[in-house]
Amino acid sequence: MVGQGLGVDDVPRFRYHPDPVATGEVITSDDPCRCCGRQRGFIYTGPVYSEDEVVEELCLWCIADGSAATLFEAEFTDVGDVPDDVPRPILTEVLTRTPGFSGWQQERWLFHCADATAYLGKVGYEDLQAVPEALEMIRQENAHFPWTDEEHENYLRTLTPIGEATGYLFQCLHCGTHLAYADHA
Ligand SMILES: [Zn+2]
Ligand SMILES: [Zn+2]
Repeated sequence: MVGQGLGVDDVPRFRYHPDPVATGEVITSDDPCRCCGRQRGFIYTGPVYSEDEVVEELCLWCIADGSAATLFEAEFTDVGDVPDDVPRPILTEVLTRTPGFSGWQQERWLFHCADATAYLGKVGYEDLQAVPEALEMIRQENAHFPWTDEEHENYLRTLTPIGEATGYLFQCLHCGTHLAYADHA
Protein backbone atom coordinates (compact mmCIF):
# COMPACT_ATOMS: atom_id res chain seq x y z
CA MET A 1 0.00 0.00 0.00
CA VAL A 2 2.35 2.68 -1.19
CA GLY A 3 1.74 5.82 -3.19
CA GLN A 4 -1.10 8.25 -3.45
CA GLY A 5 -2.43 7.04 -6.77
CA LEU A 6 -5.60 5.22 -5.94
CA GLY A 7 -6.48 2.58 -8.45
CA VAL A 8 -9.82 0.88 -8.05
CA ASP A 9 -7.98 -2.39 -7.53
CA ASP A 10 -6.52 -1.04 -4.30
CA VAL A 11 -9.86 -0.55 -2.65
CA PRO A 12 -10.51 -3.11 0.09
CA ARG A 13 -13.18 -5.67 -0.64
CA PHE A 14 -15.74 -6.53 1.97
CA ARG A 15 -17.30 -9.97 1.82
CA TYR A 16 -20.43 -8.87 3.64
CA HIS A 17 -20.80 -5.41 2.11
CA PRO A 18 -19.57 -5.82 -1.46
CA ASP A 19 -20.22 -2.30 -2.75
CA PRO A 20 -20.37 0.26 0.07
CA VAL A 21 -20.07 3.14 -2.40
CA ALA A 22 -23.16 1.97 -4.28
CA THR A 23 -25.10 1.52 -1.03
CA GLY A 24 -24.23 5.11 -0.08
CA GLU A 25 -22.36 4.19 3.11
CA VAL A 26 -19.01 5.28 1.66
CA ILE A 27 -18.38 8.47 -0.28
CA THR A 28 -15.45 9.73 -2.27
CA SER A 29 -13.72 12.38 -0.19
CA ASP A 30 -10.32 13.97 0.26
CA ASP A 31 -10.81 14.20 4.01
CA PRO A 32 -8.06 12.53 6.03
CA CYS A 33 -8.87 9.41 7.99
CA ARG A 34 -8.85 9.92 11.76
CA CYS A 35 -7.30 6.50 12.26
CA CYS A 36 -4.38 6.42 9.79
CA GLY A 37 -4.23 10.16 9.07
CA ARG A 38 -4.10 9.60 5.34
CA GLN A 39 -6.28 10.91 2.57
CA ARG A 40 -7.37 7.71 0.91
CA GLY A 41 -10.11 9.11 -1.31
CA PHE A 42 -12.96 7.31 0.44
CA ILE A 43 -14.69 8.06 3.73
CA TYR A 44 -17.17 5.85 5.54
CA THR A 45 -20.41 7.67 6.39
CA GLY A 46 -22.31 4.86 8.12
CA PRO A 47 -22.76 4.24 11.84
CA VAL A 48 -19.84 3.92 14.28
CA TYR A 49 -20.79 2.55 17.69
CA SER A 50 -18.07 3.82 20.00
CA GLU A 51 -17.55 5.88 23.12
CA ASP A 52 -15.87 8.42 20.87
CA GLU A 53 -17.96 10.31 18.40
CA VAL A 54 -16.59 9.24 15.04
CA VAL A 55 -18.63 10.73 12.22
CA GLU A 56 -17.48 10.48 8.61
CA GLU A 57 -13.81 10.20 9.59
CA LEU A 58 -12.70 6.69 8.67
CA CYS A 59 -11.18 5.31 5.49
CA LEU A 60 -12.03 1.89 4.11
CA TRP A 61 -8.57 0.47 4.76
CA CYS A 62 -8.79 1.12 8.49
CA ILE A 63 -12.18 -0.59 8.56
CA ALA A 64 -10.95 -3.55 6.49
CA ASP A 65 -7.87 -4.30 8.59
CA GLY A 66 -9.63 -3.79 11.91
CA SER A 67 -7.46 -0.86 13.02
CA ALA A 68 -10.38 1.58 13.25
CA ALA A 69 -12.38 -0.86 15.37
CA THR A 70 -9.40 -1.41 17.64
CA LEU A 71 -8.45 2.26 18.01
CA PHE A 72 -11.98 3.45 18.81
CA GLU A 73 -13.24 0.20 20.35
CA ALA A 74 -15.90 0.52 17.71
CA GLU A 75 -18.42 -1.66 15.98
CA PHE A 76 -20.02 -0.64 12.70
CA THR A 77 -23.31 -2.38 12.99
CA ASP A 78 -25.66 -3.90 15.48
CA VAL A 79 -26.33 -7.41 14.34
CA GLY A 80 -29.55 -8.04 16.21
CA ASP A 81 -30.48 -11.71 16.57
CA VAL A 82 -27.72 -14.05 15.45
CA PRO A 83 -28.51 -17.70 14.72
CA ASP A 84 -26.57 -20.17 16.88
CA ASP A 85 -24.90 -21.79 13.88
CA VAL A 86 -23.03 -18.64 12.85
CA PRO A 87 -19.39 -18.92 13.97
CA ARG A 88 -18.06 -16.17 16.20
CA PRO A 89 -15.28 -15.04 13.79
CA ILE A 90 -17.93 -14.25 11.18
CA LEU A 91 -19.79 -12.13 13.67
CA THR A 92 -16.57 -10.32 14.54
CA GLU A 93 -15.91 -9.61 10.88
CA VAL A 94 -19.38 -8.11 10.42
CA LEU A 95 -19.16 -6.07 13.60
CA THR A 96 -15.63 -4.74 13.36
CA ARG A 97 -14.24 -5.12 9.84
CA THR A 98 -17.26 -4.44 7.61
CA PRO A 99 -18.88 -1.08 6.82
CA GLY A 100 -22.31 -0.90 8.37
CA PHE A 101 -25.38 0.87 7.05
CA SER A 102 -27.83 3.45 8.34
CA GLY A 103 -31.47 2.56 8.79
CA TRP A 104 -34.42 4.43 10.25
CA GLN A 105 -34.39 2.26 13.35
CA GLN A 106 -31.66 0.14 14.87
CA GLU A 107 -30.09 -1.74 11.99
CA ARG A 108 -29.89 -5.51 11.87
CA TRP A 109 -27.73 -7.81 9.83
CA LEU A 110 -29.34 -10.86 8.27
CA PHE A 111 -27.91 -14.39 8.28
CA HIS A 112 -28.42 -17.48 6.12
CA CYS A 113 -26.73 -20.86 5.64
CA ALA A 114 -24.75 -20.47 8.89
CA ASP A 115 -23.09 -17.30 7.61
CA ALA A 116 -23.70 -13.57 7.50
CA THR A 117 -25.28 -12.42 4.25
CA ALA A 118 -24.05 -9.68 1.95
CA TYR A 119 -25.76 -6.32 2.38
CA LEU A 120 -26.87 -5.05 -1.04
CA GLY A 121 -28.50 -1.77 -0.06
CA LYS A 122 -31.73 0.11 0.49
CA VAL A 123 -34.62 -0.91 -1.70
CA GLY A 124 -38.22 -0.05 -2.42
CA TYR A 125 -41.30 -1.99 -3.44
CA GLU A 126 -40.33 -2.07 -7.10
CA ASP A 127 -36.89 -3.50 -6.38
CA LEU A 128 -38.40 -6.05 -4.04
CA GLN A 129 -40.80 -7.32 -6.67
CA ALA A 130 -37.76 -8.62 -8.54
CA VAL A 131 -36.80 -10.69 -5.47
CA PRO A 132 -40.10 -12.23 -4.32
CA GLU A 133 -38.53 -14.27 -1.50
CA ALA A 134 -37.27 -11.07 0.11
CA LEU A 135 -40.62 -9.36 -0.28
CA GLU A 136 -42.29 -12.39 1.28
CA MET A 137 -39.93 -12.16 4.23
CA ILE A 138 -41.09 -8.60 4.96
CA ARG A 139 -44.70 -9.71 4.51
CA GLN A 140 -44.18 -12.51 7.06
CA GLU A 141 -42.51 -10.18 9.50
CA ASN A 142 -45.53 -7.87 9.39
CA ALA A 143 -48.00 -10.73 9.60
CA HIS A 144 -48.68 -10.06 13.28
CA PHE A 145 -50.10 -6.62 12.53
CA PRO A 146 -53.90 -6.65 12.55
CA TRP A 147 -54.02 -5.45 8.98
CA THR A 148 -56.14 -6.57 6.08
CA ASP A 149 -54.33 -8.00 3.06
CA GLU A 150 -54.91 -4.71 1.35
CA GLU A 151 -53.36 -2.78 4.21
CA HIS A 152 -50.34 -5.12 4.13
CA GLU A 153 -49.88 -4.53 0.42
CA ASN A 154 -50.33 -0.79 0.86
CA TYR A 155 -47.55 -0.73 3.43
CA LEU A 156 -45.23 -2.66 1.12
CA ARG A 157 -46.01 -0.20 -1.65
CA THR A 158 -44.81 2.70 0.50
CA LEU A 159 -41.30 1.23 0.68
CA THR A 160 -38.72 3.27 -1.23
CA PRO A 161 -34.93 3.46 -0.99
CA ILE A 162 -35.07 7.13 -0.01
CA GLY A 163 -38.52 7.61 1.52
CA GLU A 164 -39.68 7.28 5.10
CA ALA A 165 -40.24 3.54 4.84
CA THR A 166 -37.36 1.54 3.48
CA GLY A 167 -36.40 -2.03 2.70
CA TYR A 168 -32.88 -3.40 3.34
CA LEU A 169 -31.79 -6.10 0.94
CA PHE A 170 -29.28 -8.88 1.60
CA GLN A 171 -28.18 -11.95 -0.33
CA CYS A 172 -26.90 -15.27 0.94
CA LEU A 173 -23.33 -15.91 -0.24
CA HIS A 174 -23.96 -19.65 -0.40
CA CYS A 175 -27.42 -20.36 -1.83
CA GLY A 176 -28.11 -16.95 -3.40
CA THR A 177 -31.39 -16.41 -1.56
CA HIS A 178 -32.36 -12.78 -1.15
CA LEU A 179 -33.45 -11.61 2.28
CA ALA A 180 -34.87 -8.32 3.44
CA TYR A 181 -36.44 -6.46 6.28
CA ALA A 182 -38.10 -3.07 6.40
CA ASP A 183 -38.44 -0.20 8.84
CA HIS A 184 -39.76 3.33 8.83
CA ALA A 185 -39.17 6.75 10.31
ZN1 LIG B 1 -7.53 5.10 7.63
ZN1 LIG C 1 -28.37 -19.49 2.09
